[in-house]
Parts: sequence; C-alpha cells; structure tokens
Amino acid sequence: MPPRHRLDGIVIRQQPIAEADLIVSLVSAEEGRVDVLARGARKSTKRFAGGIALFSAISAVTEQGRGHLPTLVESSLHAAFLHAAPSYGQLALASYVVELAGCAAQPSHADPALFTWLRASLALAETAMEQQLRTPRLAIEIGFLQALGVCPDLQACSQCGQDTAAGGTWQDADAGLVCTRCLRPHAETLPPGLVRALALWSLAPAEPPVDALPASAALRVAEQRVARLLGQVVPETLRSAQALRDLLRFEA
Ligand SMILES: [Zn+2]
Repeated sequence: MPPRHRLDGIVIRQQPIAEADLIVSLVSAEEGRVDVLARGARKSTKRFAGGIALFSAISAVTEQGRGHLPTLVESSLHAAFLHAAPSYGQLALASYVVELAGCAAQPSHADPALFTWLRASLALAETAMEQQLRTPRLAIEIGFLQALGVCPDLQACSQCGQDTAAGGTWQDADAGLVCTRCLRPHAETLPPGLVRALALWSLAPAEPPVDALPASAALRVAEQRVARLLGQVVPETLRSAQALRDLLRFEA
C-alpha cells in the first residue's frame, strides 16, 4: 500500500477536473499550499461528506498516487467557516481572504503566520455585518501585509520613533505613520481611534469582534495606503477584490 500522510489545513479552492473529480487546494501551517485530488467528489457528495467544502478547516489523509498530485483518502472537519447561510457580504469577504491566501501560499513552504492570518480572517468574515464590510476588509488586508512581512511599522512614528497615541498622518505608504509632533503642515490627520486600530491589526491578525470604524476621509486615506502596499504583492485583478469594491460602493 502506498504511504499515507496526514495534514491539517484550510480549503481555499476547489477546481473541477475530469468527469467527477475535484482538485482541492489547502493551506496548512506546516506545508504551505497543498493540492490534493478528490476522486469522485462531484459524483457523490457522501464521498467526503462535509470535509472538503470551501472555507473549511480539515484534517486530510492523502496517498501518493500515480499522478503527481496526492490523492485524498479521507477528510474530517475541524471547523466550517461560513457554513450557516452566509450573507453575500460575508461570502465576498471570505472569497477575498482565500484568494489572497492563494496568492501568498507556496508549496512545501511552512508559513504559520499566513495560516494564523487565514483562520482569523475567515472568522472575521463570518461575523461581518452587512453594510459594514469596510473595517473588516482593512483589518484583513493589514494582517495579510503583516503575515507577508511587508507591512511598515504602524506602532510608532517613522520619524521620531515615539508613540502615535495622539493620532498621526500616513503620507508615504511604505514609510508608515508620522506622529502629531512631526506632522507636516496640511497633512490629512488620522484620528487616534483609527491609528490605534491600525497598530493593533499590524501586531496580530484581527479576530472578531471588530468594531466598525466611522466612514471618514481619514479612513479612505488609510485604505488607499494599504491598497498601494497590496498592489506591490498581489495582482490588481483579483476577482474577489473587485466584487468587494462593488459592494462597498453602497456603504457610506
Ligand atoms: Zn514623530
């Protein structure tokens, strides 16, 4: 019998293949991105009942088949995110999360930070309120940049190194925040509440509950800086990102 292998991961993608099979893409903390072949998964829903749904945290047993993809032998569910009739907004956020994860996860490359972010972000998407997707999206994006190691220091002023408790500005996306003591004149000031939230999310992936930040010009500034940083690490054409932007047009 071929050797078997067990791994824990989160399902980020399902791709139909041949007549009845699925390629299931997982992200695991220890092995990064792993694609497995689920034979017959589309013919019988009982074959891997509940264990390969998108956004699920599962424990999978695989077997090295003749092809280059390992074959899924059995799968058991640890946690199912967004299983109970999610809203369209929650689905849009979660789809964005798994698409980001797919951009960053590498095969055979342990990435515990990315995995922790993925799990926390799906939990956040699951609890997102309709018409209040702006804040969780920003928290998810900052956590993602942090997991990739490309988030500027948002804890302290990039010029004097002191705290930004009284608020600050974020003029240059790559440089990070500048405190009120070092402010340049006419700079768009970010209020302390927003600066505190940015600092918090850049320390550890945001977990629910995340209170919605008030819509403001300052929030838009932060979103633009984060979008600029994201543009340096993921393609601009993510389908789920566009779907989310379309939804956010209806928010204040
Ligand atoms: Zn300063």
